[in-house]
Amino acid sequence: MRIPLSFVMLLLIFAGQVAGQASGAERRLRVAVGGLRAESNSFYPSLAEMRSRELPSREEWLRDGTRGRSVRAGLIEGAADLGLDLYPITTASASFLGKVSDQSFNASLDALVNDLKNADPPFDGVFLDLHGAMVVESYPHGDAEVARRVREAMGPDFPIVVTNDFHGNVAPELVENCNVLITYKEHPHLDTKERGLQAARIMASMVAGKVKPVQALEKPAILINLIHQDTFTGVLKPIVAESRRLEAEN
Ligand SMILES: [Zn+2]
Repeated sequence: MRIPLSFVMLLLIFAGQVAGQASGAERRLRVAVGGLRAESNSFYPSLAEMRSRELPSREEWLRDGTRGRSVRAGLIEGAADLGLDLYPITTASASFLGKVSDQSFNASLDALVNDLKNADPPFDGVFLDLHGAMVVESYPHGDAEVARRVREAMGPDFPIVVTNDFHGNVAPELVENCNVLITYKEHPHLDTKERGLQAARIMASMVAGKVKPVQALEKPAILINLIHQDTFTGVLKPIVAESRRLEAEN
């Protein structure tokens, strides 16, 4: 039921250490976690509805989120080790049956943006957990529209770290509207917690002024059939190994 995957190679290049930025007065850094998730089948004839999940208390969210090997589990574990305080904000999802309706998408995205804008004290950054293959009635690249509106609302200096499924269809506009995009490296998706830990590490370094991430997107004109997408064997194995090697250099 997936829309075709275009293989994406995304390089995160760290522009060196930013020297000597002292954090000044000691204050716990507050980072929000939210997102809109859908893996859309745009050929399906009816529309899907984006629905927000009821937000649990922060304590509940932190406690329950550590179970399993999700991105959230990685974020929570990493943040605790790195001195970031995480706060859940709007999280919504839609089924894969059709494009997401404009009305439900806009309502959920407005709620997420308001959570960010109205935070008191303000947030120091946000983790956006997006699938990467969301198609909305008016936005072929729904995930890019999420990042664009968050960037527009929070300004150019607000750290935005996005995590995407391996099967995201990454649009240049998504890369342009976030500081860091991290995609799962494994199919089957066994590295979700590892990617959450990675996202937490990069966010902590960024908000402390130690690194200034720079991104570039390269999309070779190839499609890889689902039966060849196993990253533990076949054509993708050496490509994923090379991406890990390149990251380790930076
Ligand atoms: Zn996937």
